[in-house]
Amino acid sequence: RAKKSAPFGLCHISEDGFKEFDRYLDIKSKLEQAIESDELSIVLQPQVTHDGTVSSFEALVRWYSKELGPVSPGEFIPIAEESYAICEIGDIVLRKTLNVMSNFVKAGLNTTIAINISARQIVMPDFINSLLSRVNQFGIPPHRLMLELTETALVVDIELVKETMLELAKFGFRFSIDDFGTGYSSLAYLKVLPISELKIDKYFVDDIGKDFDGKAAQIVDAILEMAKALNVTCIAEGVETVEQLNYLKGKGCERFQGYYFSRPEPEAYWAELKQNPTLP
Ligand code: C2E
Ligand code: MG
Ligand code: MG
Ligand code: MG
Repeated sequence: RAKKSAPFGLCHISEDGFKEFDRYLDIKSKLEQAIESDELSIVLQPQVTHDGTVSSFEALVRWYSKELGPVSPGEFIPIAEESYAICEIGDIVLRKTLNVMSNFVKAGLNTTIAINISARQIVMPDFINSLLSRVNQFGIPPHRLMLELTETALVVDIELVKETMLELAKFGFRFSIDDFGTGYSSLAYLKVLPISELKIDKYFVDDIGKDFDGKAAQIVDAILEMAKALNVTCIAEGVETVEQLNYLKGKGCERFQGYYFSRPEPEAYWAELKQNPTLP
C-alpha cells in the first residue's frame, strides 16, 4: 500500500472511488431509516415442476427508497450483512413471507415459499427461537418454509451451522443450497447436513447452449449427479430459454425458476389465483 500512496501519506482515490464510497455511505445510512419506515417489501418468483405447475415461490426482498429510488438487493444486502441490519431485514422478510403464505392458504393455494438466509443470521444465538415464534405467530407449519443458504454461509462456522440446521430440521424446516456450484462446500460437509435441495446457480444455466466446449453443460450434469448421490432434488435458477429448460429436463432436473416462467412479482399479482397455476 505504501508504494501507491501519494506524498504526505494520502491515498490516491479516483473520482469513481469517491462516488462509490458516497453511494456506500448513502445506502448504509438510509437502510436504517428504510427498516424503520417500512420501505422494504417482498416479491415472489414461482418455482415450477416438469409440467409447469407452480409448486412454490421464492421471496425476494425489494427496497424502493424515497430518496434513492429502487436499490437492488445485490447492492444493499452485502452492506446490510456488515451489521445487525441483515437480521432485522431477515425478520421483516420472514414476517412478510409468512403473511403472504397465510393469505395463500386462505385462498386455497397449496405452496411452499423459499426465503434467503444470510450467513450472519444463521449463526445468531436466537435464530432458532425467533424462527419458531414467527411461524407459530402466523400459524404456518415449518415444512412450508424452505430456507435457502449459500455454500459460503455453510462454511462460516460449519459445526454451529450443522447443529442449527439439524435442530430446525427436527421441527420440519427444509433447506436448499442456493447458488450451488459457486461456493466452497465439499461433499463431505453436504453429506452430514439435512439438505432437501440443491439450487443450480444461474451462472451455469446461462451458458447452456452458448458455450462451445460444452463445459457449462458438463458442470450442470455433475451437479445433477451430485444431487442424486446426496439423495436430494435439484432446482435450476435463472432459466430464461426453452433450450435451457429442455436440456435441464432431459438431465433429470426436477424444478425450475426463471424469467422463462415469470419474473418476481408482488403478492397482489398472485393473489387472484385460486389454484396452483401452470406456466408459462
Ligand atoms: P438469489 O437468491 O440467487 O436470487 C435469484 C436472483 O436472480 C434474484 O435477483 C432474481 O430476481 C434473479 N432472477 C431470477 N430469475 C432470473 C432470470 O431468469 N434471469 C435473470 N437475469 N435473473 C433472474 P434479486 O432479487 O436481485 O436478488 C439478488 C440476490 O440478493 C439473491 O440471489 C439473494 O442472494 C439476495 N437476496 C434477495 N432477497 C433477499 C433476502 O430477503 N434476504 C437475503 N439475505 N438475501 C436476499
Ligand atoms: Mg435465493
Ligand atoms: Mg440463487
Ligand atoms: Mg444466484
